[in-house]
Amino acid sequence: MTNQNGWTKSSWKNYTALQQPNWPDQKALEKVTKDLALLPPLVFAGEIRTLKALLAKASKGEAFLIQGGDCSEDFSQVTAPTIRETMKVLLQMAVVMAYAGGKPAIKVGRIAGQFAKPRSSDTEIVDGVELPSYRGDMVNKSEASIKARTPNPKYILKGYYLAASTLNLLRAFTRGGFAALHRVQAWNQEFVAQSPMGRSYNRLAAQIDQAIKFMNTIGIPTDIPQVNQTQIFTSHEALLLPYEEALTRIDSTTGDWYDCSAHMLWIGERTRQVDGAHVEFLRGVLNPIGVKIGPDHDIDNIKQLIETLNPENEPGRLTLITRMGCDNIEKKLPALLREIKKEGAHIVWNCDPMHANTYTSESGHKTRNFNDILTEITRFFEIHWAEGTIPGGVHLEMTGKNVTECVGGARNIVSEELHNRYDTTCDPRLNAEQSLEVAFQIADMIKH
Ligand code: PEP
Ligand code: MN
Repeated sequence: MTNQNGWTKSSWKNYTALQQPNWPDQKALEKVTKDLALLPPLVFAGEIRTLKALLAKASKGEAFLIQGGDCSEDFSQVTAPTIRETMKVLLQMAVVMAYAGGKPAIKVGRIAGQFAKPRSSDTEIVDGVELPSYRGDMVNKSEASIKARTPNPKYILKGYYLAASTLNLLRAFTRGGFAALHRVQAWNQEFVAQSPMGRSYNRLAAQIDQAIKFMNTIGIPTDIPQVNQTQIFTSHEALLLPYEEALTRIDSTTGDWYDCSAHMLWIGERTRQVDGAHVEFLRGVLNPIGVKIGPDHDIDNIKQLIETLNPENEPGRLTLITRMGCDNIEKKLPALLREIKKEGAHIVWNCDPMHANTYTSESGHKTRNFNDILTEITRFFEIHWAEGTIPGGVHLEMTGKNVTECVGGARNIVSEELHNRYDTTCDPRLNAEQSLEVAFQIADMIKH
């Protein structure tokens, strides 16, 4: 079945798809995608439309998007504690934005499907042996052996089931009372509570507590969904197109196509060619779509992407995730904003302060400096204010755990400490305390 201009859920196959694994067994891949196409969707069209409506608000400055989670989700970390801790930090950040920043936060996890990674090279040399690169748990294993690194489509199916159980837990937590504002103090984790950020958070939580008690005292009901429940949406990079195609379904109420693997999908910096398979696939589904934009972008090319992915200029459809780097953002972002503003395009401008601020420390760890991250965010806001455009969100690699992967922050993690709890399978993440610190800084700027 086709919709606009010859799109079908498999029309991407007529275009070049970069960053796809070399699957050794095509038949096994086909079998997996056939099985997957019969399994239930992970998210529903109605939820996707809700997120799009919220993002439309973010494009106007009436809400703020917090998109965050692992660089690459790890199958072995799909556990209740890990999911709960990541969720707690997202909830804490959202409460800081809403209470200290005065703006509703839209919570979108890099979660329940962020299992596939683009790599700069197909192979890498480990201890003198050339191995296929690790491409995420949905493709192969990170261990350094030919067997582990050979892409295996059965991991796609495993990823689907793990995404389903992650979503199940997120839905239970967000609907079942855990995320109720009465519990705002309980989201502070022990290792954070004693830190400067944890103390600031506790002060804010106590004020919210008091406000709720006051409402109760004077008879305003607080047993309402706005207080008792919340919604966390899911997102991942739509990289493995056979997986995305298999989860793309027609919404029975509207007859429209949605990619039901997540609420929001984004296209990475390496796969956003206007005539490439990823753009072809995503132009036909009605989900909110993100596109990463690095410092080497070409403005005319971005205009073409906007025209291809959002021809109707629907607010909330398109989020541009800029990742220029703290040293480049002042050179690169103003012209981009100015030119796109001239087109009158509705965009959620989202700042990824992680991906162009990565370097290798003296200890040999891939890391990021908290100051660079904050600098990029601050400059992002200032440039938007100067250009008269709207800073709509932040895109972070973060975890609820007490990891030591990024240097700096209130506790000033130094390079020598990185090895203590360096647990990421891909890029370095902010820990819970560093994430909270970012939220306080942003809250200060959004109330501007
Ligand atoms: C990522 O978000 O992990 C990533 C690979 O980003 P980018 O496409 O911006 O490099
Ligand atoms: Mn990353």
